[in-house]
Amino acid sequence: MSDCLFCKIAAGQIPCTEIFADDDFLAFGDIDPQAPTHILVIPRRHISGLSDLTTEDSLLAGKLLTRATQIAADEGLNSNGYRFVINNGQDGGQTVGHLHLHILGGRSLDWPPG
Ligand code: AMP
Ligand code: ZN
Repeated sequence: MSDCLFCKIAAGQIPCTEIFADDDFLAFGDIDPQAPTHILVIPRRHISGLSDLTTEDSLLAGKLLTRATQIAADEGLNSNGYRFVINNGQDGGQTVGHLHLHILGGRSLDWPPG
């Protein structure tokens, strides 16, 4: 999608701190980190958010989760744990309309969320 920030990052038109890339996904550091490790994992294909996933996306959605767990392990987060967050829509706090999974780790995280 031409006016989507994360599509532009995936296309290399806007720089990012790349952490992982393959044909399906890109992972990069969040520009405003909320924890010592704060990584965003996005599908290269534009999907607006969780609400737009269809059953045809099941394989991609599963791969998103397993890819993110691999990245978390590679970042050394398995020993102390970590959190995945996917915000969806206005009440969910989603600010970028391209599906993305937050990997947060490196400190103890509060619960419940605000
Ligand atoms: P969300 O609020 O779940 O939609 O998350 C969007 C995330 O994208 C926020 O954590 C932002 O800090 C992050 N973000 C926005 N612009 C950029 C950018 N250019 N590079 C990296 N992260 C960004
Ligand atoms: Zn997009």
